[in-house]
Amino acid sequence: MSKYYFEEAIVLKNQRIKDADLLLTVYGRSKGKYSVIAPGALKIKNRLRGKIEPFSWGRGYFVVRRNLDLLINWEVIDIFWDIRTNLEKLNSAIDIISIIEKNMPWEDPDEYLFNMLLEMLKLIREKNSSFFKEVFFIKYLQSQGFINTFSMRCNNCNKSFDEDLIRMDIMENKVYCKNCSFSGISISLETLENLNKILTLSLKESLEIELSKKEFEDLIREYEKNL
Ligand SMILES: [Zn+2]
Repeated sequence: MSKYYFEEAIVLKNQRIKDADLLLTVYGRSKGKYSVIAPGALKIKNRLRGKIEPFSWGRGYFVVRRNLDLLINWEVIDIFWDIRTNLEKLNSAIDIISIIEKNMPWEDPDEYLFNMLLEMLKLIREKNSSFFKEVFFIKYLQSQGFINTFSMRCNNCNKSFDEDLIRMDIMENKVYCKNCSFSGISISLETLENLNKILTLSLKESLEIELSKKEFEDLIREYEKNL
C-alpha cells in the first residue's frame, strides 16, 4: 500500500530529468529541505505544469517512495507573479532561496526559517531595496546560531573602537582593534554598527538600512566559505 502526505512548501529549485520529469528541491514547513520527483511535470497537459517554479509557495500532495517521494499535486498558495515580472525582484528572490538551497542541511525542519523565507518573499514583492540578499543572509546566519550581536569594544584590549577599520573573527563572533589582531577580515565601524542593527531589528526594518554593498559581499563570501 502506498503512503501519502500533504506538506506546505516553497520550491527552491527544479531540474529537468529524463523527458518530462522534474527533480525538485523544496523547503517544507514541517520537513525542511528535501528532494522529490514531479513525474510528467513538463508535459503539456500535466496539472503540475507551470506551477512548481522556484519560490512558488503551495501545498503539495506526495507519495512516499523508497528513494525519492513523488509530487502528485500542487495547490498553489502564491506563485508571486509580481516578483516574476520584475527582473530585479526576481533576482532577489532567486538569491534568497539559493541561500537556503545551498546552506541548509537536508531534512532539518525549521519552521522559524520557513516563516522567515515567506516573510522575505512578501517583502520583496512589497518593497524596494538593494539589500534583500544581504539582510536575509545575516538573518539566516543568526537563525542558525552562526552570528550574534557584536561587542563595540576590542575583545583583547577592551578599548572602544574609534578607528575606521576593525578586524572580525567570524568563527568566534569576535571583533578586535587593528593593534590587537592581524588576521580575520577587515570591516568598517559603520558596517559593524549596521550588522548589529540587522541582528536587532526585524527583517522589514533592516531593509531600511543603507549598507556598504562591497563590505557585505566580502563578509557573506567569508561566511559561505566557513559554513
Ligand atoms: Zn585591541
